[in-house]
Amino acid sequence: MKVVHAEQLASEPVREPGAKGASIRRLIDTPDGADRFVMSLFELAPKGSTPPHYHDWEHEIFVLSGKLQLELPGEKPGTGRTIVLTAGDAAFIPRNEPHGFTTPPNDRARFLVIAPTDRPPIRNVFLSDDPYEIEGQPPAKGGER
Ligand code: ZN
Repeated sequence: MKVVHAEQLASEPVREPGAKGASIRRLIDTPDGADRFVMSLFELAPKGSTPPHYHDWEHEIFVLSGKLQLELPGEKPGTGRTIVLTAGDAAFIPRNEPHGFTTPPNDRARFLVIAPTDRPPIRNVFLSDDPYEIEGQPPAKGGER
């Protein structure tokens, strides 16, 4: 059994290529004895991003604070869409569905990610290490869900 406060855990930068302003606290992890699921607290600074990617495992997101933009790339460049999530929103990312995360210029986001312990490799969607360009107007809340 483990009880921990998030502030007691080190915040590590997300080192995935293309990630920007992203950090992770591993709340519950395999060294704790978790052998099916792990739970992590992610923080994205203003204009932060994780690059668009997909993987053969699902993850589940719960937004604690701020504004998290869920980026869903389309089949072709320019056909993607963005869903704005705020505190209390939950999202399910099915396996192999391309996705990324960004934050607007004036907002940060804190969110929980629940994922399986056994995780095949992550693949970037456009084989690009470039973070998202997020200049311009962020989309309005209440778009497509
Ligand atoms: Zn992912």
